[in-house]
Amino acid sequence: MGGDINTGAGAGCTDPAAAGEVAVAQFRFYEELNDFLPRDRRKTTFIHAFTRRASVKDMIESFGVPHTEVELIIVNGRSVDFSHIVTDQDHISVYPMFESLDIRPLLRLRPAPLRRPAFVLDTQLGRLARYLRLLGFDTLYRNDYSDDGIARLSSEQGRILLTRDRMLLQRSIITHGYFVRATDPLQQVDEVLQRFDLYNDIQPLTRCIRCNGRLTEVDKDIVIDRLEPKTKRYYNQFRICRDCDQVYWEGSHFRKMIGLIDGFREKARS
Ligand SMILES: [Zn+2]
Repeated sequence: MGGDINTGAGAGCTDPAAAGEVAVAQFRFYEELNDFLPRDRRKTTFIHAFTRRASVKDMIESFGVPHTEVELIIVNGRSVDFSHIVTDQDHISVYPMFESLDIRPLLRLRPAPLRRPAFVLDTQLGRLARYLRLLGFDTLYRNDYSDDGIARLSSEQGRILLTRDRMLLQRSIITHGYFVRATDPLQQVDEVLQRFDLYNDIQPLTRCIRCNGRLTEVDKDIVIDRLEPKTKRYYNQFRICRDCDQVYWEGSHFRKMIGLIDGFREKARS
């Protein structure tokens, strides 16, 4: 591994910056990367003419495809990293993350996938953040995060950035990010669980929906003064957030949510 990374224009390649002439490259995007392209460039090979020296990352993003969506780039039959400088007559194939097909031997773009998924969400995805926490996933979210702050949290803490903002995903420091397609929050949950293959990692009621803190079991006696009469009567098992003291139990809203997730899981299997 590693010996065949083509990091730039070698001797004999045409460098448009040096030549000051128009160069052309052929691009083909695969699978869901086509979602980001205008209709006439989807699922087809197209010619891109350029005069300025540019990395393959910058060129891919100039077409509207965030680099975080890309898992593999093949240039003239060899896999390259994002810093590859596009040269005249390059044939470039761009692939998204593969979910089932094992292409690890070919991967060049980033280290191994994050083992324990943790997320940071942009400010538009508050309901998705609550659902992910309810399902037990480590999810940072605040409605007053700045774009810089979100990018830094993703980079420094190795968190997958979930966003509906393509510009945010273009930042180089973000290596693990995903553009959420769905607009409905429950559909978003399904999309994220499928994309990152998380259906087997769901651990409901282990995280605080309010602050992302860890929940721990607590005796009913300790929290009984804080419960509504009906809750007191019908429920016996409680958990409490170690960080903010919020009390949780498996109420009707919780069961409805889990029912919906089970439905998604069935659908994903079929
Ligand atoms: Zn909490």
